[in-house]
Amino acid sequence: MKIAIDIDGVLLDIIVEYCKIYNERYGTNYRKKDIKSWDFFKDWNISEEVAFNIFYEIYADSMNVPFIDENAPKVMKKLNELYDVDIVSARLPEYRSSIIKKLNFHDVREGIQYVELILLHHKPYDIKMKQSYDIYVDDNPNLVEPIKELEDRTLLLFDQPWNQNSVCENNVYRVYEWEEVYDKIREL
Ligand SMILES: [Mg+2]
Repeated sequence: MKIAIDIDGVLLDIIVEYCKIYNERYGTNYRKKDIKSWDFFKDWNISEEVAFNIFYEIYADSMNVPFIDENAPKVMKKLNELYDVDIVSARLPEYRSSIIKKLNFHDVREGIQYVELILLHHKPYDIKMKQSYDIYVDDNPNLVEPIKELEDRTLLLFDQPWNQNSVCENNVYRVYEWEEVYDKIREL
C-alpha cells in the first residue's frame, strides 16, 4: 500500500509564518484561524502572484515554520515499516534542499520516515490525483470530491480552518492529529 503524506498543513504550519510575514509587511493582523478558504488571498484583495511570492520566500527558508505534531516522525516511521510512505508536496522542486533541511531538523528522514520526497507544482489544485497512491494524508479541500469518485483510494483530511466546509464521508475521513492518522490507516 502506498501512502502520500503532504507537508504544508500536515507536517508544517506554514500559514502561521505566512501570516506573520504578511502582517509585518502590510500592517494587518491576520491569524491562522482567519484563513477559511484555499484561495484566501482573494479575500485579502492581493493577486495570486503576490500571495505566492510569500510562499516561495518561506519555501526558500522554512526553519521558522512551526512543526504541527511532535508525534508525526514516530507515526511516519511505523507506517513506513508497514507500507510505502512518500512525502508528496506542492512545493516547487527548486526548493528541495531547503525542505529536506527542515524535515531532517524534525527527524523526518529519507529511508526512515519516508521512501521518496516528491515535489510538484501547486496547480492544478488536485495535481496529486495524478500520482497513484492508495492513501493521501492532506489538508487540501480540493482533493475531497475527486477522491470520492475513486473508491479504491482514501483521503485522511487533516483538519484545518480552510477545509471546514468539506464533507467527510465514504472514503474521506477527517483527522485531527497524527496518532489518529496511524489508527485510521490500521483500521482500513
Ligand atoms: Mg497541504
